[in-house]
Amino acid sequence: MRLSASSLLFALGGLTFTPKAPAPDTIRGFTPESSRVERDWETRFRAIPDPARMRGMMERLAARPHHVGSPYDRTNAEWLRDQFRSFGWQAEIENFDVLFPTPKERVVELVAPTTFKAKLQEPTVPGDPTSGQHEEQLPTYNAYSIDGDVTGPLVFVNYGVPADYEELERHGVSVKGAIVIAKYGGSWRGIKPKVAAEHGAIGCLIYSDPKDDGYGDGAVFPKGPMRPRDGVQRGSVADMPTYPGDPLTPGIGATKDAKRYSVAEAPTITKIPVLPISYGDAEPLLSALTGDVVPASWRGGLPITYRFGPGQARVHLRVKSDWSLKTLNDVIARLPGTTEADEWVIRGNHHDAWVNGAEDPISGLVAELEEARALGDLYKQGWRPKRTIIYAAWDGEEPGLLGSTEWAETHADELRQHAVAYLNSDTNGRGYLGVEGSHSLEKFINGVEKDVLDPESNVSSWKRNQFRDIARGTPEARREARDREDLRIGALGSGSDYTPFLQHLGVASLNLGYGGEDEGGIYHSVYDDFYWYTHFSDTAFVYGRALAQAAGQAVMRLADADVLPFAFTNLAETAHRYVTELQQLRDQRATAIAERNREIEDGLFAALNDPRTPLHAPTLEQNAPQLEFAPVLNATDSLARAAQRYERAYTQWVDRGGVTQAGATGASSLKALNERLIQAERALTTPEGLAKRPWYNHLLYAPGYYTGYGVKTMPGVREAIEQGQWSSVNGEIGRVAAALNREAALVNQAAEELSTTR
Ligand SMILES: [Zn+2]
Repeated sequence: MRLSASSLLFALGGLTFTPKAPAPDTIRGFTPESSRVERDWETRFRAIPDPARMRGMMERLAARPHHVGSPYDRTNAEWLRDQFRSFGWQAEIENFDVLFPTPKERVVELVAPTTFKAKLQEPTVPGDPTSGQHEEQLPTYNAYSIDGDVTGPLVFVNYGVPADYEELERHGVSVKGAIVIAKYGGSWRGIKPKVAAEHGAIGCLIYSDPKDDGYGDGAVFPKGPMRPRDGVQRGSVADMPTYPGDPLTPGIGATKDAKRYSVAEAPTITKIPVLPISYGDAEPLLSALTGDVVPASWRGGLPITYRFGPGQARVHLRVKSDWSLKTLNDVIARLPGTTEADEWVIRGNHHDAWVNGAEDPISGLVAELEEARALGDLYKQGWRPKRTIIYAAWDGEEPGLLGSTEWAETHADELRQHAVAYLNSDTNGRGYLGVEGSHSLEKFINGVEKDVLDPESNVSSWKRNQFRDIARGTPEARREARDREDLRIGALGSGSDYTPFLQHLGVASLNLGYGGEDEGGIYHSVYDDFYWYTHFSDTAFVYGRALAQAAGQAVMRLADADVLPFAFTNLAETAHRYVTELQQLRDQRATAIAERNREIEDGLFAALNDPRTPLHAPTLEQNAPQLEFAPVLNATDSLARAAQRYERAYTQWVDRGGVTQAGATGASSLKALNERLIQAERALTTPEGLAKRPWYNHLLYAPGYYTGYGVKTMPGVREAIEQGQWSSVNGEIGRVAAALNREAALVNQAAEELSTTR
């Protein structure tokens, strides 16, 4: 703790202090004095990340296919470990043995009324040097599809989400015993076979419609960035909203001697076989469908009439995989802390890909590597972080967050005790700095964004985001963008490696990445490679440098701060917003159900029915009861009061130049405070977890049970309302209220520890 002479005098003189906002260049968690030192190191840090080096590293890491279990995955892991070591870090590879199926047999064919055999192959593109590495490429498939050999009528189900099946029902179309064909999009892909199986389907095809990421959106590869006719999106279809990670070892690390489920017992493997196909392969199948024409919102970009089916079209689908265990290579690097070495700041990006994966994940990984090199450089110049910094390059993210989840589960007890925060990135592109995560870090990350320059507009990334919100927003959003102290960050659902940290262990997390000005249709295909990235995305790697600057500064501030930079006013306000949304959701559902029930009882559907294209009336639904929101509203009020108390204590602490009460300068009382602050995110979790999915412990953020990646905030309450499970809603409200009350109590104690008046 550094202490200025004047603040020491104040403290010793026992004067009282009028709180005022800290000087604008005072960093959250630092005193005016320690901010100056930090800013000096940060200025040196920002100058180091080098776009040319990022380009070179991407070319090397994406040179060959490097999926889980492949030779080049291991080669990359060893190279990454050696890079970290050359930067001055301690680095090791940590192995886990996980279930990762790879395809042995794949057949999709139309067997009636005509025949057609799907290619299931992405062709070499002339000029793209890695697109022809067929020997090493994983074939197009969906990992964790169960083996199967089925033949049945084909039905088109739009995006294959629950609402689509309601529409099918009204048209009298059943998928029982059928193979469904769904478009990619509208939900995470694993939801499609899950919902199809719930409705009795026996197989599932998922295709990329050209309207969504093909010629409907721009020129296709190699002329442009969009998906070509035979491009296929690979991807996992394991039931990730139930739990991510190795399907055989939920909740525990997949170490050598871990107790495992058999493959037959694993609950997250699909119930029906699934394969992804291109729009080239989908067109003959969809053209063969008869039956009613689908609603306008279901139609894609192929030059055909989209119909529900089934009619005469019958499809044969066969999938068979090699179900052996494969070895994960997580690269874990450490830079030791000094005075607070047992507090860990963790940063990660995955290194495995579906194929060559230049965008996903190497674009984010090379930024992380440049951060590590820069931090290593500062270390050689004499910079010493207070806290231990851990940089991870995860394996097995693509099949289901395997590397991060198994590592987090293996080290769960240590992480619950020591982890300060987790910072994630994944793909990176051009445009706006996207930030999602824990709202206790919203104020902190706003501060970081203000100190990163957007490379193409020369305003800060924060300013550019603010202008975007003003330009796009409603009057209310515009007012908020101009007047609210911090720009809002989104909540995290799932889709990358923050999930085990945030939603299983309750480690405050942030996900960072640039995007929004980088159209593309090569996601999870062989064309996501160095050629594509250096022609169509962040071709000069300047946004790679900006990501390294943003994430690296965030890491430095978390590692160096005197007081950990959590703030709870935004968390309290955000929690209150969520409750208001839930009240509105209940009222909208109540109105909609009452209106529809009345229409059914009045005979509206029967009277409006067109006998030539008949529609079935929907069925009566239970009316929505009134709900008891008072406990959670009282809890958000308590948290808001505690958060304000903490802010007052914090502002006074900064004003005094970092002196705690009674003139104490620091170390021991701050240690107790920081240990408490580390537990703040844990207080929002519950050991019992969410209903039907106990692996997910966070009561504010979870991926949606029927949306996958998409977040559900206050998920227990929200999903019970959405799914009409009215009898469980009040109990779920009570659980959230209890969590927010725990948080309020913790924040009150933290304020007490930081305040002068004890
Ligand atoms: Zn990724």
